Amino acid sequence: MIRRFLEKPGSVDIAPFERTVAAAGALADRARDLSLEELREMAAANVGSAEFCAAVREVADRTLGERPFDVQLVGTLAMLSGNVVEMATGEGKTLAGALAAAGFALRGKSVHAISVNDYLARRDAEWMAPFYTAMNLTVGWIAEASTAEERRAAYACDITYANVSEIGFDLLRDRLATDPEATVQPVPQVALVDEADSVLVDEARVPLVLAGATDAGAAVPEMAALVRRLSRGYHFELDDEGRNVFLTAKGTDTVESALGISLYDHPGTVTEVNLALHAHALLVRDVDYIVRDGRVQLVNPSRGRVAQLQRWPDGLQAAVEAKEKLAPSDTGEILDSITIQGLLTRYPEICGMTGTAVAVGENLREFYQLKVAVIAPNRPCVREDEPDRIYPSLIDKELALADEIVAQHATGRPILIGTLDVAESESLAKELRSRGLEPVVLNAKNDAEEAAIIARAGELGALTVSTQMAGRGTDIRLGSPEVAELGGLLVIGTGRHPSSRLDDQLRGRSGRQGDPGRSVFFVSGEDDLLKAYLPEETLPKAEKDGRIRDKQAAYLVGHAQRIAEGVNTEIHRNTWRYTRVLEEQRTRLLDHRDRILYGDAGAEALRDARPERYQELVEQSSEEAVAAAARQIVLFHLDRCWTDHLGYFADLREGIHLRALGRLSPIDEFNREALPAYRKLLEEIEKRSTASFDALDLSAPLAEQGMKRPSATWTYLVSENPFGSDWDRVLRRVSSALRGRKKG
Ligand code: ADP
Ligand code: MG
Repeated sequence: MIRRFLEKPGSVDIAPFERTVAAAGALADRARDLSLEELREMAAANVGSAEFCAAVREVADRTLGERPFDVQLVGTLAMLSGNVVEMATGEGKTLAGALAAAGFALRGKSVHAISVNDYLARRDAEWMAPFYTAMNLTVGWIAEASTAEERRAAYACDITYANVSEIGFDLLRDRLATDPEATVQPVPQVALVDEADSVLVDEARVPLVLAGATDAGAAVPEMAALVRRLSRGYHFELDDEGRNVFLTAKGTDTVESALGISLYDHPGTVTEVNLALHAHALLVRDVDYIVRDGRVQLVNPSRGRVAQLQRWPDGLQAAVEAKEKLAPSDTGEILDSITIQGLLTRYPEICGMTGTAVAVGENLREFYQLKVAVIAPNRPCVREDEPDRIYPSLIDKELALADEIVAQHATGRPILIGTLDVAESESLAKELRSRGLEPVVLNAKNDAEEAAIIARAGELGALTVSTQMAGRGTDIRLGSPEVAELGGLLVIGTGRHPSSRLDDQLRGRSGRQGDPGRSVFFVSGEDDLLKAYLPEETLPKAEKDGRIRDKQAAYLVGHAQRIAEGVNTEIHRNTWRYTRVLEEQRTRLLDHRDRILYGDAGAEALRDARPERYQELVEQSSEEAVAAAARQIVLFHLDRCWTDHLGYFADLREGIHLRALGRLSPIDEFNREALPAYRKLLEEIEKRSTASFDALDLSAPLAEQGMKRPSATWTYLVSENPFGSDWDRVLRRVSSALRGRKKG
């Protein structure tokens, strides 16, 4: 009881799991004498029991050569009970997760083991395959390049490893199928999520998009040229958190005289100016994106790597392309979309694992009703985490940082330096080179060499400068006993991240499995984190050696980070408020769709609505031919109307703040509109379907009867939507700037 009292709210009492695992220890000798067949029976008889633990441990030991530690089995049991486990980096979550996946599969469920990239999905599936095979379970994996056939085969396995976006894109593509045979993904049952905080929280609000039919993107080079001439502080201002940019009254005047129009009367132009300004002032090349092969490639803010297939909402994407003077990329109509949170909440059972779960315990509870089970390391972590070294200015910090790196490198100790963005990794590498060192740089620009760079990062004398790419899933082993004697891997952060979890993931590259190691972060009063979230505060005075040791400074740094985390949660919450309604409607509509696709609901509906017409058509051909045509007709209009509905919602969402200037809260107003819109959607599907049915010519293809489906579709992820909760704030500022000017 006391233990439960002391535990954080939302965390799970793991004592029962520990007792089960302790009991499993006593069964080890018995298990050792059993055949695989007998072990399988022992495990399957009572998944989650001591017998289960003893059996899977024995099978893993025989097939993988790794005998699961007690803590791994405790993690397995906590996952089997539907929790997110926190186990430090290097503790062997891959194996603990595989044992849990086997447990779910033995209970008759199919499991989607969700990873954060294709490389890890394949690595884990192939690594764990001998264990699954011995358990008589099948395992498959999916990568971006997998064909529909390969995907179908992988999903047919008991356990399927895949990146979250692949699973989402398959869902979206399936949802357009007009033939049951063409789908690849079965009904979701269990999601077992690796790096759970990253997927379930950081990426939760990212929409996965399915688009179709092409036309060229809106060209806005004039706007890009115009805003390039504006200066910050005079023509435009950023808000305190640096998330929004808005024109000042002066800026509005300048824009208006340059364009020769009144912005007040041209809301469309206001949007274009805002997009151009956003691209100009808030999105920084080599921080938020890189330009490679003549294309803008987004950098994932929490992973530091190029976010493949990811783009901003169309207007903003075009604005950034115009800013970089690139040709606009294709845009298309959004046929369907789902957020990662919407994707994951479809699974009746979710569990997960990560090195950093406790810090998002509240979010996991709020958004997924998940609890966190904290599992102690197998061997105590002996890494020393130094307090931050804090300096007044950026220059002081950079000098001290370079001095420290030079001094530590001279001892031969391997050093991993984590920077906050691509530009910083490059400028630091340059500084180090000017001091005669030869750092290896790992960032979004050379991600192809990743595995090789990481493999050497723990060797004697290694000096690696990396963005957060080295942050998750990577295994840095110490190169030699000599390295351990030097104190192991030294991790240096060049600044605190906007989330303590990212700091902890970086630290976690050192001190794996009881290895020695050390970590330290360098911070300055001019760091973005402090400037953005505590703009009013100044740090206490530095001591003679240039460092600030006053406790207040450390407090302020932590405080700024907590504010940043709070802001992110609030944005997540707000986005979810808007997307939830839509995703509920989507689920309901797709239920109908499934009954049409897999059953005869389409034919029944049209027969009920038009009995005579139905009979007439049957006499012309056959019952089957009419049912098949009816199915295609209803599916076509359902999909078409849903696309329109999405467009309506997007407009509604963008326009809602204007109504909010009245009395109603935007979300209430939004919800009030959503339900009637859905009813109208259903009516519209029925109306259009019956009209098509009336006019149906069974001898001609439907495509020639106004029911042409998009010829090509493609998928992408939308990067953090700057128009989310912040969009209304942007516009409110613009409109207040306008109002101020009108009055003046
Ligand atoms: P995590 O995902 O928790 O960071 P990994 O699953 O990548 O950790 O495993 C880290 C390392 O620990 C791997 O090299 C793996 O082979 C090793 N490992 C995991 N479990 C065991 C075990 N029971 N015995 C020995 N080595 C193990
Ligand atoms: Mg891992």
